[in-house]
Amino acid sequence: MTQVAEPTTATSTPTARVQHWIGGKRVAGASGRSGPVYNPATGDIAREVDFASVEEVNDAVQAAKAAFPAWRATSISKRTEILFRMRDLVDQHRAEIAAYLTAEHGKVPADALGEVARGLENLEFATGIPHLLKGGFSEQVSTGVDVYQIRQPLGVVAGITPFNFPAMVPMWMFANAIACGNAFILKPSEKDPSASVYVAELWREAGLPDGVFNVLHGDKVAVDAILGHPDIAAVSFVGSTPVARYIYEHATAAGKRCQALGGAKNHMVVLPDADIGMAADAAVSAAYGSAGERCMAISVVAAVGDVADPLIEAIKERLPKVRVGPGSDPRAEMGPLITREHRDKVASYLESGPQQGAELVVDGREHPLYRDGKGFFLGVSLLDRVTPEMDCYRNEVFGPVLEIVRVPDYPEAVQLVNDNPYGNGVAIFTRDGGAARQFQFDVNVGMVGVNVPIPVPVAYYSFGGWKSSLFGDLHMYGPEGIQFYTRGKVVTSRWPDPGTSKVDLGFPHTR
Ligand code: NAD
Repeated sequence: MTQVAEPTTATSTPTARVQHWIGGKRVAGASGRSGPVYNPATGDIAREVDFASVEEVNDAVQAAKAAFPAWRATSISKRTEILFRMRDLVDQHRAEIAAYLTAEHGKVPADALGEVARGLENLEFATGIPHLLKGGFSEQVSTGVDVYQIRQPLGVVAGITPFNFPAMVPMWMFANAIACGNAFILKPSEKDPSASVYVAELWREAGLPDGVFNVLHGDKVAVDAILGHPDIAAVSFVGSTPVARYIYEHATAAGKRCQALGGAKNHMVVLPDADIGMAADAAVSAAYGSAGERCMAISVVAAVGDVADPLIEAIKERLPKVRVGPGSDPRAEMGPLITREHRDKVASYLESGPQQGAELVVDGREHPLYRDGKGFFLGVSLLDRVTPEMDCYRNEVFGPVLEIVRVPDYPEAVQLVNDNPYGNGVAIFTRDGGAARQFQFDVNVGMVGVNVPIPVPVAYYSFGGWKSSLFGDLHMYGPEGIQFYTRGKVVTSRWPDPGTSKVDLGFPHTR
């Protein structure tokens, strides 16, 4: 496991106050409003983050708007050069970015480095922009007439991101948005905002012109100002379902393009023929990694037929070996939750689950770090005999709680998954290729893993759930990201020979 130092670099030190980044520099908040940023491993307030006012949102939009025409006109090769430099800087500073994540989110260093690596993929994809922005050309559609399609940037675009991936999710958005020639405003989660400002400094070092990338911190005031601002053309959002729905409705009502990714309740279906050891390893890794605070975390194991008892035994055997602790402990594999309030909400399902008939097999509240009450820790928990009516099943728990739902056969497993309002990720564990193929055909979920528990697509595909996990038409990053951040323009052109022109009032046709 890589050891990560406190976040410091030549250009950046952690500040007591996290400020906005507007027009290529840090800007102190003037609203008089701010929020606390905790160190979740100790429970202490580590710093304060400024909250933007409507006027400050407008300042950032004006900076982005001023930068857009020149950035849009910058040659593709020059833009690509800057993207390559940014890719290298993020690569060189993986440890510093990861340290911010550990300090403010609480995820352990190995997990934080994994997040940076998956974010970096998006910058690597975006360096292919010369190829990605190629249009189409049809020669001689009519005599002497050619038609071609080009894709152009939208203008000023905004991204609003969640606490659980403070580096990766912004990269899902800004890598393609900026590569396509847009100016970008990031409104990161106010719970772990520092990595965004650090990344802004890297963009400056990479040579990105001032104003093309801006960071505004804040809460609903800033978000509402973004949604209502007439000079913002598009909004990308990742977060919980109620907020995603709100963002989509308000952004589109204001005439903006919008993609809003919501919450999840991911199932892992284990068929009776599955390799029990492999399925148990996968369930434990995917349920408890990052303390269950991943949108692609496995929340429910649907155990089919007689696989349930041996599978639960195998999962139970593995749980005492999961080392819970702060990111400063090199042996820790799972850190704290993001806030005390969220930790207590997660723990409440360990109370309501058994009251509603579930069996609490392992209780994370028995962990000493939960009991000592300082950081926001909760140990790993396992609930068996969960049914769809229970609160723990109906809600997105977003914590280190794995629920087992026992189903008699494959059709009931599919029914369970398809009846769930969320449709982000799902996995099937089986040795039967035919069953796996049928599952990918049957299941109403956007991302499917076959013996892969967290099927987050690589950056050259696109990421998106179905149902209440995504509002909008286009998935995020990859080819659909390029589509989202550009609009098509089709040119029909003729260079006639002199003397061939004549008046013709008929509707243009191609023969
Ligand atoms: P959240 O919805 O509370 O916050 C997300 C963003 O919205 C933040 O920037 C926050 O400041 C802002 N926000 C919060 N409440 C708001 C309101 N009432 N009005 C306007 N803006 C508001 O989400 P979170 O707790 O930061 O993140 C966890 C959630 O994100 C989980 O539900 C998780 O499943 C989801 N998530 C989904 C994906 C995905 O790809 N589908 C990825 C990561 C996280």
